This record gives sequence, C-alpha cells and structure tokens, in this order.
Amino acid sequence: MFEKILIANRGEIALRVIRAAREMGIKTVAVHSTADADAMHVRMADESVCIGPPSSSESYLSIPSIIAACEVTGAQAIHPGYGFLSENANFVQIVEDHGLTFIGPSAEHIRIMGDKITAKDTMKALGVPCVPGSEGGVATLKQAQALCAEIGFPVIVKATAGGGGRGMKVAQSATELEKAFLTARSEAKAAFGNDEVYIEKYLTTPRHIEIQVFGDGKGRAVHLGERDCSLQRRHQKVLEEAPGPCITAEERARIGKICADACANIQYRGAGTIEFLYEKGEFFFIEMNTRLQVEHPVTEAIFGVDLVQEQIRVAEGLPMSFTQDDLIINGHAIEVRINAEKLPDFAPRPGRITQFHAPGGLGVRMDSALYDGYKIPPYYDSLIAKLIVHGKDRHSALRRLARALGELIVDGVDTTVPLFHALLQEDDIQSGNYNIHWLEHWLETNLRD
Ligand code: ADP
Repeated sequence: MFEKILIANRGEIALRVIRAAREMGIKTVAVHSTADADAMHVRMADESVCIGPPSSSESYLSIPSIIAACEVTGAQAIHPGYGFLSENANFVQIVEDHGLTFIGPSAEHIRIMGDKITAKDTMKALGVPCVPGSEGGVATLKQAQALCAEIGFPVIVKATAGGGGRGMKVAQSATELEKAFLTARSEAKAAFGNDEVYIEKYLTTPRHIEIQVFGDGKGRAVHLGERDCSLQRRHQKVLEEAPGPCITAEERARIGKICADACANIQYRGAGTIEFLYEKGEFFFIEMNTRLQVEHPVTEAIFGVDLVQEQIRVAEGLPMSFTQDDLIINGHAIEVRINAEKLPDFAPRPGRITQFHAPGGLGVRMDSALYDGYKIPPYYDSLIAKLIVHGKDRHSALRRLARALGELIVDGVDTTVPLFHALLQEDDIQSGNYNIHWLEHWLETNLRD
C-alpha cells in the first residue's frame, strides 16, 4: 500500500484526490505555485511544496519540479487529476523512470489516445463504431475537397492533437471548406505545435454521450454506464447527467460492453472515458480521455463507487473492488459547472470571494476549493465549484438542483449560477430534450444582453 502520494494539480480536483487518499490512510503532498500559497488544497494536504511561479508552464506543468517534490517528500506515487499533465505520456514515462508510480494508464495508452487519428484507428479495429470520415490525416486542401465530395457536407475539420474544443472548424459547403481547413490547421499548429488535421462528417443533431470505463491493467475491464454531456458552450461541457435521459438499458448494455471489451483487450489501467456522438439510436466514437473526467461525480453518485480510490487501488496492482454485475444504477445525478465568469459572454472574473456558503442536505455534493476571503487567481481555469445532486429519478434530481442552487452563496465575483437558475425554467431541460447545439441557440436568444 502507498504511504504517501503527491497530487500534481490544484483546485477542487486536488481536494477530491486528497479526500480519497485520506480515507484510505494515505498521506498527501500538495504542490502549488506562488499564486496558490493560500489555496485550499495546500491547507488540506499533509504536506506541501511550492514548485514555481504563477505561470502553469513553470509550476503545474514543470515535470522536473514535480519529480523533485516527490523526491524531497518521499511520495511514492503521483495523481495527476485532470488537465495539466494528466494526459502527457512523456510525463508518465519520466515518473516511471524515477521509480515512482503514475496513478493512471500506461504511457503507451495515453500516447495512442492522445493522437485522435491513432485513437480512431485503434477503436475501429476493436469494434467500436466511429464517425465516418477521412482514413487518417488530410494533408492538402485538394485531398480535403475530394474526401468531402465523397462523404458530403457538412463536415468538421479536427486537429489530431486537439483537446478542449480547440482546432475544430465546421464547413457547411464546398466554399467554406478552404477557410475551415486552413484555420483549423493554423489553430492546431498554434495550440498544439502540430498542424495535422482530419475530417469527419458533421452530425447535425447529436447528443454527447460518454461511457465511463475502468480497467485493472491486466485484462479485466468494466463500464459504468453513460453520462450525457450535450449541454455545451463552444464545445465545452456546462451540465452533465447520468444516466442519459434518452439511453435505454439495452443500448447501455450494448455500447457499454463494446467499450469494456475494448479496454480489456488492450489491458487498459484505471479510469477512462470513451466519448461518442449519439444520433438516431447510433453511437459514433469521437475520442477517448485517458484520465478522470471533471464530471466523474455523477457516475459515482448513481453507482455508489469512489473512482479515485479505485484508481489508487489498481495503480498499486490490486484488483478492482467491483465486477460488472456489482454495478447497478441507483437513481439519477446531475452536475453543474460553476465558473467565475460573467454572463452573457462568459468573461473570466477572478477576484476575492467575500462570502461563500455551500449547499448541503440529502443528495447534495459540492466539490469546490473556495472559502470565505479566498482570492481566485487569474492564471488558471475559471471552474470554481461543481455542484452535484442525486435523486431517486431525474425529476427529483432536478428539484434538488433548484433547491441546492438556491442555498448556494458566492459573493464577490460573478459566476455562472444565474445560467442554471434560468435553464431549470426551460421545458426542454425539464424533459431532457436537448442536443449539443441546444445551449448555443438558447444563449443566442435568451442572453443577448
Ligand atoms: P475535444 O477533444 O477538443 O474536446 P472532441 O472530439 O471531444 O474534441 O469534440 C468536442 C465536441 O465537439 C463534441 O462534444 C461535439 O459537441 C463536437 N463535435 C466533435 N466532432 C463532431 C462531429 N463529427 N459532428 C458534430 N459535432 C462534433
């Protein structure tokens, strides 16, 4: 059993991992930038190490500083959280070369899934259904035009190294293709240092349905159903729920088994998410995330499992604590992402929190690193809290969400809370009738200012 682990992250996800470790009797080391000296994860961990200045590239992304922090504190393993180094295969390799354990998948699996073309090829070979599109990368505009003439418009040009919704451009027609192709390429080059792009058929009314998978790294794997993350702004998730309002038990069992078998086949280790677009009863793979997702708590709520403790278990070489048959859905869960942003344009609003009160009561979970007087630094992501509610069914979860949002107090900065109050008034949200474009349309008509 590990005695001490280091968390290479900050904010709510660092607290999430500290909590899981503490319940397992494992000591924790927080790392932080100079801007985060007063952050909650630093206060809550057993030990902390300052690893650099505010800029992420010199602190949370600094591999030598993080390895040195492990050596100084005697931490035996590193949990990367999400974002930062969590999907950096080179980091995993370095961690392992130093005799430390990476709490996550192998460097090889991260590398395969981090390149979206290789990921798609791998999944296709494993029998996972994919979005129709180019076989591999598309190098020239001429190739792009020929392919699109074949698959038909609209299409989406995507960066093979992409992530976070960047490097993606939609072309509705042949005339739009040139611009979409060239901008996607230059955005990809600027954001990821790799301008390779590929092309997919653009699905017009899909839902974003993702399957949570978990493997022991030795050929056993399970699925923990789906999350519907269709409510998105600029390809970024805003609200997530599980189970998906439109997914039947048969569909879940079928796509879940395909995903679990794929993970078993490659001996995948730890938590992963296989993302699909879902349209007219069909699933189309878009990418796999080889880490814990921001929205993992909705899955934890309905299955009653602790995914972080499970990650730590399998990283130690222990078997998973559940089998597929143990995993039975109980009720419905919804998460909303609360960002320090000002509506209607979602401009980041870092600043000092003058008053904070987290909601509570039955079925309410608040994952947040806020506290009274905390000053949100301007250097990092604007996510400040995740509010997760669990009810016996979707209707009670929605009622509980409204109740919990009403109890929440975050004063001193603007937040996205008013958005959720407004969304809960919508019939489509109440009935679960939305796709990946619903929120953008709604924002255009309702929040124009
Ligand atoms: P990223 O890694 O940048 O998050 P993804 O491939 O996961 O990119 O896609 C993010 C979002 O973009 C999806 O949830 C969906 O809303 C949209 N999207 C991606 N591919 C397609 C497609 N082929 N058709 C329609 N929408 C798409």
